[in-house]
Parts: sequence; structure tokens; C-alpha cells
Amino acid sequence: MSVEERTFIAVKPDAVQRGLVSKVIERFETRGYKLVGIKIIQASKELLAKHYEEHVGKSFYPKMESFMSSGPIVAMCWEGKDVVKQGRSMLGATNPCASAPGTIRGDFGIDLGRNVCHGSDSVESAKREIGLWFKDEELVNWTSNQAKWLYE
Ligand code: GDP
Ligand code: MG
Repeated sequence: MSVEERTFIAVKPDAVQRGLVSKVIERFETRGYKLVGIKIIQASKELLAKHYEEHVGKSFYPKMESFMSSGPIVAMCWEGKDVVKQGRSMLGATNPCASAPGTIRGDFGIDLGRNVCHGSDSVESAKREIGLWFKDEELVNWTSNQAKWLYE
């Protein structure tokens, strides 16, 4: 398993408005993952349609598109061993009411359409999403001094 695996995590407009950006960052940072990209962005409908290509045309899409483009999103790229799968489990279930306490959605959300954060669902999706939200030069390759204390 590569320690250079990357995932795309986004703090959605509801959570930015509610002042939860630091909480989401803290979960990933204290777990030991490495932040390699971060920016605040108000997403266009074009970007959202690419990001959520599997959902375009579904009944909930127009509402979701309008919510996701209604305010700033904090887009992040996190790196570390198994980060895609671990990131999804740290986020919790899609519906916050079905998310266990201790997960981000289970601790900070209630409604499906206001579920605080996004996380890539596979290594392949992560590559695609990171490419959509970040230019290469916006991602920083750096060595963390913690690595030897995190990894055997
Ligand atoms: P995720 O990968 O866990 O974020 O879940 P999905 O890829 O299935 O859905 C993408 C996002 O669309 C979810 O995070 C929800 O915020 C939203 N969503 C999914 N299903 C519904 C729905 O039935 N109604 C509404 N309003 N939003 C939904
Ligand atoms: Mg999804």
C-alpha cells in the first residue's frame, strides 16, 4: 500500500458557513495524513457537473447543484497510506443520520443534502477529482518529519 496515495476531500458550503473547516482538517491532520493541496473556491456548475458526472440527470441533482454552487467550498488533497478508504470511513455514511458518532458526518450533520463533506470513493475517482479541482502546480510535494513516527 503506497504512502503516496492521495484523495480529494471537500468541505461543502454548509460546513464552511457553519465554521467547520478546521474540524474537518483536524481529523485528517491528527490522524497523520499529509495536506498537499488546499484552496477555497466557489464552484461553477460546469465544474460540479464534471465532479458529479455519475449523478447528473438524477432527480436530486438540480437541488444539489444549486446548494454546492451557493457558497464557498474548501477543496483539499490529502496524502498517506490507504487515505482513500480511510477518508471515506472517517467521513461516515452518505446520510449523516446513518453515520456513526465519531465520523465527521455523524458528529456534525443531520440531513443528506447538507452532509458537510465530500471524499473520493476510489483511488481512480480520487485521481480524476484531484485533476478537476487542482492544477499540478497547486499540489505540493513535501516530506513530513512525522513520517518515521507514523509508518513502520
Ligand atoms: P457520497 O459519495 O457519500 O457523497 O454520496 P453520493 O455520491 O451517493 O452522492 C453525492 C452527494 O449527493 C451526497 O453526498 C449527498 O449530499 C447528495 N445526495 C445523494 N443522494 C441524495 C438525495 O437523494 N437527495 C439529496 N438532496 N441529495 C443527495
Ligand atoms: Mg460519491
